[in-house]
Amino acid sequence: MRVLVTGGAGFIGSAVVRHLVLVRNYDVLTVDKLTYAGNVASLATVENNPLHRFLQADICNRAAMQEAFDSFKPDRVMHLAAESHVDRSITGARDFIETNVVGSFTLLETARHYWQDLFGKAKTDFRFVHVSTDEVYGSLGKDGLFTEETPYDPSSPYSASKAASDHLAKAWGRTYGMPVIVSNCSNNYGPYHFPEKLIPLIVLNALESKSLPVYGNGANIRDWLFVEDHARALDLIVERGRIGETYNIGGRNERSNIEVVKRICSIMDTLRPQKAPHERLITYVRDRPGHDARYAIDATKLEAELGWKAEENFDTGIEKTVNWYLENEWWWAPLRQGYGGGRLGLLNGSG
Ligand code: NAD
Repeated sequence: MRVLVTGGAGFIGSAVVRHLVLVRNYDVLTVDKLTYAGNVASLATVENNPLHRFLQADICNRAAMQEAFDSFKPDRVMHLAAESHVDRSITGARDFIETNVVGSFTLLETARHYWQDLFGKAKTDFRFVHVSTDEVYGSLGKDGLFTEETPYDPSSPYSASKAASDHLAKAWGRTYGMPVIVSNCSNNYGPYHFPEKLIPLIVLNALESKSLPVYGNGANIRDWLFVEDHARALDLIVERGRIGETYNIGGRNERSNIEVVKRICSIMDTLRPQKAPHERLITYVRDRPGHDARYAIDATKLEAELGWKAEENFDTGIEKTVNWYLENEWWWAPLRQGYGGGRLGLLNGSG
């Protein structure tokens, strides 16, 4: 099996690549532009594996995508490349429109021509999985869950750009008959998460006794999924998902942001005790504009049809994650220096 993974040097993409190469023994081509969020160090465990190849390229570049498809000849495409940080989309939406909308369009067009050539030769076992977010559905009130039928109602430039790309992917399925599947996932956490996102930011700021910024009153709720559970779900979807369908992926692990931050503080109190508890560092900051109150996923379709279940509950997953950051300074220290770690106001993005 030959799988082309876009965005494979990112947080979730690298977990997918590690899973496909190390667990499934598939041939994988990672295509990644290496923006600030892309990091080849996240692929260190597959770097010298003959099953893995890496191509630095922009999904907006049609000629580069054509060359990648023609030379690698994938059976599957898993499209994860995106600009993914909500706060960055608020201060500068252009890159989000370019990569998430124009880039997804370019990739879909390249894949369509490639697939149509194969189709002409009667080889039809090609699949394209477009990986998206539950943020396209907007915000929930206190009750209810996002299902695959929930109408789209995105709030941020990020979620609007992802919604646009979901519609393009579905249209390429309906109009051209291309074998497309869309997945919409809740917030991920785990190893190799870029240190601007809520969980790694809190762990690393706590480690350095810096303030722990929390938006508003911290009541916003997210449904957390361990990144390796997401990678397994995507593997099942690309192999056994029904063409033309959408699958929601979620961990049934709803937590408010302040609960998450306090849980990390208590783990840090045990692992790296300080004179006073880490909770003293919590600082409430002005809320993000358009901040969705609650996301929660109903993953029944994925569970019932494909037999997937999240293996990691939040309490064990968050401990593993904190431990990973404490043990892998080699990975995060260069990023944190480059990024000016610990800045207030940058947290709690899509991931
Ligand atoms: P990430 O920001 O960690 O990684 C994105 C990767 O895409 C990076 O390696 C980056 O270099 C690459 N990239 C960006 N622009 C590119 C371009 N023009 N051409 C080629 N490569 C490019 O993101 P992530 O958190 O791993 O998210 C991956 C996908 O999953 C995204 O599509 C995101 O919308 C979706 N998603 C994320 C979450 C989450 O919690 N992180 C939840 C649901 C869905």
